[in-house]
This record gives sequence, structure tokens and C-alpha cells, in this order.
Amino acid sequence: MNIHEYQAKGLLREFGVPVPDGYPVLKAEDAEAVARQLRGPVWVVKSQIHAGGRGKGKFKEKAAGDKGGVRLASSVEEASAFVREMLGQTLVTAQTGPAGKQVNRVYIEDGSAIASEFYLSMLVDRDTSRVAFVVSTEGGMNIEEVAHDNPEKIRTFSVDPATGIMPLHGRTVAETLGLTGDLARQAEDLAAKLYRAFVEEDMAMLEINPLVVTKDGKLRCLDAKVSFDDNALFRHPDLFKLRDETEEDAKEIEASKYDLAYIALDGTIGCMVNGAGLAMATLDIIKLYGEEPANFLDVGGGASEEKVTAAFKIITADPQVKGILVNIFGGIMKCDVIARGVIAAVKTVGLEVPLVVRLEGTNVEEGKQIIRSSGLNVIPADDLDDAAQKIVAAVRGA
Ligand code: ADP
Ligand code: MG
Repeated sequence: MNIHEYQAKGLLREFGVPVPDGYPVLKAEDAEAVARQLRGPVWVVKSQIHAGGRGKGKFKEKAAGDKGGVRLASSVEEASAFVREMLGQTLVTAQTGPAGKQVNRVYIEDGSAIASEFYLSMLVDRDTSRVAFVVSTEGGMNIEEVAHDNPEKIRTFSVDPATGIMPLHGRTVAETLGLTGDLARQAEDLAAKLYRAFVEEDMAMLEINPLVVTKDGKLRCLDAKVSFDDNALFRHPDLFKLRDETEEDAKEIEASKYDLAYIALDGTIGCMVNGAGLAMATLDIIKLYGEEPANFLDVGGGASEEKVTAAFKIITADPQVKGILVNIFGGIMKCDVIARGVIAAVKTVGLEVPLVVRLEGTNVEEGKQIIRSSGLNVIPADDLDDAAQKIVAAVRGA
């Protein structure tokens, strides 16, 4: 689960991490009162979307100007004008894709006088099975570019969970950033607090870009991106209220209601499968024959007819889908149940794109018979290879 910058900063503040004061605005009419709670002389007005690159982003609508999703204001009036310009508009950044994301919340915070900008992130390093720090002096800009062009400027080290965070780790952060004296001590303190926040809140990723040194010699986190380990969320019921469903794919939310795993992708072929392994194999073979999957929906091991119907509706609701491949191996799942679900769904939602069905396993003959006798225009396939070729040919012909 991802959260907004202002929520991440609120959480980090509870752990004593230095972040600027700020308040979120959800309604334009509140902007002025919110801005007045801050001292100035600089107010930073920041679009809150679950994507980075906001500073360099562009709004689709001209009303919001072409100043990007992070703007500096020099008065309460200017700050509230920026809020009004941003709210409800669509911000396009390098991370949102061309469709952009609608800005429904804005954050106003104290402006910092920046002396230098650094990069610091933390993640679970799967190679070492430890929490790792990634630190670089090249903050504020595109860290992916730095990683590509100047990898030596990025330092990574991990923390042994048996010892936890130690002064040595903080000193490594300070040394990497070239900080000495009081700033080095601030870096040690920051590393310890961030580590505690990361571990106690079961974060999967924490990114501070930029981490700055202010002109008056303070280390401060000016941006914060946090995602949590979904498998540990049950331990943090209070984090659920930070969820913003408007930032998530509506189809993924709909699928989760039926306990279906739905993943949106960029291609044209919708895939209904059972089991993660079969899903991966299905995506691979579609790519092998030269097309791209639009999504995959895993109906799991013991899906009911109702669940299959819901799954089918979710796939057909995506306008990107130019063809559907149903690829089911009936183990616990029975092929006749799948077949009935597919037929029921097609009858309620209609079928405007080609549909290839490959069934194998328990009750396969019964399943195939149900599909054959349905009178619907379904293309049967004998095996995975045959199915992939048929759906690729069908979407190309369409
Ligand atoms: P994004 O990474 O989505 O572009 P940031 O929060 O990193 O958004 O903001 C972009 C840039 O705006 C930062 O690199 C920093 O230079 C500037 N900035 C952000 N917050 C502040 C602030 N409170 N005071 C001064 N400058 C800021
Ligand atoms: Mg940033």
C-alpha cells in the first residue's frame, strides 16, 4: 500500500524525523486558513498524488499554468491561489504515464532555504534479506539517471537485524554525504529514527528525495515516499485509514472484493487464469507470439461460478482489451464451473472481442461440452501453445 507525501511526513514526524511543518488541503475554500497556520515567508504548495516527479510534472489543463506540481509561494494569497489552480486538475509526470493523475489533495508546507540536496532511501534488500540504505549526494534530480550514468555516486549498505541500527550506520550516511561536525551527528540521529520507523511500521520502501541541508545548518526531509508491506498490514489497523482508493486502479479494488488477484498491464490481451505460475506462463507465451497482455486475473484455486462471472466482467470492462484468453487448469477448480461462469458472464455483459478458451484437467470434457453447446462465438484451444497463437491471431485480425 502506498500513501501520500503528507501522510508519510506525518508518520515520520511521530518518530522524531525532521520534516517541515505543513497541512493538507482537500477543499479549495480551506486553502487560505491552512496557509495562515504557517509562518512563511515561503509556502510550498505540493500536489498530492501517488507518483513522483511532481516538481517537473505538467498539468494537462492550462488553468493550472505550466509551473508543475510543486510551487513556491511568497504570500498566503499566492499559496491559496496555487491550491485552487491545482485541485481537480490532472498532473502528468514521468511516473504517472500520459494519462496523468487527478490532484484531489494538496499539501502546503514551510519553505526551506536549501543549501544542498541529497538522496536517501531504504528498502528490503532481497539478496541480503536485510533492510538496506541507499544514499547519494546526487539528490533532488532523477536518481535513476544517476544510477545509470554514475553508479559510483550511490552507496548501498545493509543493517544486520541481529544488531539493528548502530552508530556505524549513521556515520556511513554522514561520510557518504560529506557531512561533518554537528551535521554528521544529525545524520546519525536521522538514520536511527528512519530505521525505527521503517521496521516498526513494516515499510517496504521509504524514499527521501531530497534530503536537504538548510542554509541554517539543519538536515531535513523535504519529500517522503512510503509504501508498506501489504502482508504485514494486518498488524497496523491504524494505517488502513491512510489508504486513498482514488489513487488505486478501480478494477483492482473491484477484484479484491471478490478475493481475485487482478493486475493491470499495458497490452491488448486480457487473461483469466488460475494460479500465479500459470499466469506467468500465459503472459510469457503471449509475448512469445508477439503480443502484450492487457492484464491478468487470477481466479485462484476454488473459484465459484459467481467469482468467475465477476472476473470476466472486470476483464471486459477494460477498453484496452482487444481479445480474451481464458487459460485454466482444473485441479481443485473444475473446468465445468469455469465454463458455466464464462457463459453466464458473456450472457450478461456481452462479448465484443474474440475469446479463446483453453481448459485442461478435472471435468475438462464436460467443460468443453458446455462451451460448444452454448452457441456463443468462443474459440476453443487444445493447449497453451495453441491458445496463445489463436488469441494473437484473433486480436491481429480484429
Ligand atoms: P517530486 O519529487 O515529486 O518532484 P518534491 O517534494 O521532491 O516532489 O519537490 C520537488 C522539488 O521542490 C524538491 O527537489 C525541492 O527542490 C523543492 N521543494 C520541495 N519541498 C520544498 C520545501 N518544503 N522547501 C523548499 N523547496 C522544496
Ligand atoms: Mg522528490
